[in-house]
Amino acid sequence: MSTKRILIVEDERDIAELLAYNLKKEGFETQVCFSGEQARTVLLQQEVQAVLLDIMLPGIDGLELCRWLRQQPKLAHIFVIIVSAKSAEIDRILGLEIGADDYISKPFSPREVVARLKAVFRRDRITLPGEQDPVLTAGPVHIDRGRHVARIDGQDTPLTKIEFDLFECLATQPGYVFTRQKLLQHVWGYDFYGDDRVVDVHIRRLRLKLKKVSKFDYVHTVHGVGYKFQLPATGALKTKN
Ligand code: CA
Repeated sequence: MSTKRILIVEDERDIAELLAYNLKKEGFETQVCFSGEQARTVLLQQEVQAVLLDIMLPGIDGLELCRWLRQQPKLAHIFVIIVSAKSAEIDRILGLEIGADDYISKPFSPREVVARLKAVFRRDRITLPGEQDPVLTAGPVHIDRGRHVARIDGQDTPLTKIEFDLFECLATQPGYVFTRQKLLQHVWGYDFYGDDRVVDVHIRRLRLKLKKVSKFDYVHTVHGVGYKFQLPATGALKTKN
């Protein structure tokens, strides 16, 4: 695994240093930005794989930066964890709605931050059934693992890393119902930590993006259980095209 570069966006120097120290100790490369403006410049100019993002920042705050980041298709692969003292439910859900992949409340243990980052990068090495194929095809759906793009009916759909991993995980086993815990484990790579609604938020975002290219709902909710990938019946496919 190549060295992962983590951008820490945090205006409190001691917190930023604590995070940087612990990440370096675990083999990550780090860069610290003390403001949202500075972070935006770094993100446009340098390659980073993940961002640890504080919400309360001078100038552009963390939520605004996150929203901006998710509007940049070239930065879709970046994994975003919000690290914030604003731990009220509303902030947590808001953070996820605007495109963060995960959320850690302050005060946090540096070990937990390291564990989550390691888990998500470990995900890159887990082999799914048929993963040796660079493109997974299920009916009109093509999941291009090399380019990290989902294509439906010939149209590319830009997805974030988490959305892509979720869709890929579901599509490897059409009809199989994945529980939220199973998806958390598989996509985020960690054992159930607190709130599995993080899965619902990302599934909702994935669905919205898929709906832009196809009327068919590929991701089905199985109430009380979880989610499954479903293909249209052959007849439905014909009427759609
Ligand atoms: Ca702050």
